[in-house]
Amino acid sequence: MRILLVVAGLLASARMAAAAEAPEPKQPPPQNEKVTLAAYLGDKDAGLSFTIDDGFAGATEEFVKVIEPTGFKVTWFINPGTIDGPVKNRTPWARWRERFAAGDEIGNHGMTHALMTEMKLKDEQAHKDADGKPTYKLLDEEINGACDLIKKEIGKPPFSYAAANGLVDDEIKKMIAARHPAFASSRRLYGGDAWSLAKANAWLDGTIKKKDWMVAMLHSYTKGYAAFKQPADFDAHLAYVTSKAGEVWVAPFGTIAKYRLLREGTQVVVKPVEHGVEIALATKLDTGVYDQPLTLVIHEPGVKEAKAVREGAEKPLPVLVRKDAVLVDALPGPGKITVTWSK
Ligand SMILES: [Zn+2]
Repeated sequence: MRILLVVAGLLASARMAAAAEAPEPKQPPPQNEKVTLAAYLGDKDAGLSFTIDDGFAGATEEFVKVIEPTGFKVTWFINPGTIDGPVKNRTPWARWRERFAAGDEIGNHGMTHALMTEMKLKDEQAHKDADGKPTYKLLDEEINGACDLIKKEIGKPPFSYAAANGLVDDEIKKMIAARHPAFASSRRLYGGDAWSLAKANAWLDGTIKKKDWMVAMLHSYTKGYAAFKQPADFDAHLAYVTSKAGEVWVAPFGTIAKYRLLREGTQVVVKPVEHGVEIALATKLDTGVYDQPLTLVIHEPGVKEAKAVREGAEKPLPVLVRKDAVLVDALPGPGKITVTWSK
């Protein structure tokens, strides 16, 4: 999968076993890499994001009903300009606020679901400044007007954007990127005639094998565009994903994008201390926006118990002791992290 995010190549991640199994040891890390940042949260092998487009009310409720019991959080790519429009078939803002509060992501799918390459041509003909240069008034409303409206209604600007019908060019992409750090450019179409349970399960297996990140694109469950021929097959796929929870990090598109961008923009400085290490995590990114903790992998085999304390923080950081390593989840920023262990 090619997502438009550059990703550092640090893929030393080993298979994280499900809670009940004994974790498998991984290859020893290079000498100077005592502490690395895992490619995915929890040092899982791969990522999976479910993204659901267009925000039709019926589909939203059907998907919530089937996905919520799994505990997976998803991304809803919505068209904010259609919600209070004349046709009342879209999920209302109050419901999106609930989904956001429940941990789902509300992403931008354009104000009106316009085909942006066509809109750009219209703009170039109709909207020009005094020098005859296009001002892209329509595109600005489609992208940034929608961003403002989501911010107003949800309380936070959208982090992610997915273009209606995927139609963009480089200039449009630049306009999107100005206010949306993550752009969903390549997604697996779920539902419709070409989708099957066997295929989707195989996509997931391949994603885990390649330590990749799969982004699933859904629209409808029982009826509507790209509905599942047999909705129960999607339930079965969710069960399959759940069975792989030790290997794949299932999270909204923007959450995994934040993780990868933050990981790429974070410097790790390690100093040994007695029975442990002191770690400084520095980033230039705004962790108010990039608010996704990263998993530090401290390659220390044979640890029995470990503790991670952050300078100036009251509570210790979450720690997981694995046969070959100690894992600590932390947000970059000031406050050195001291991890100590006993064997
Ligand atoms: Zn769409």
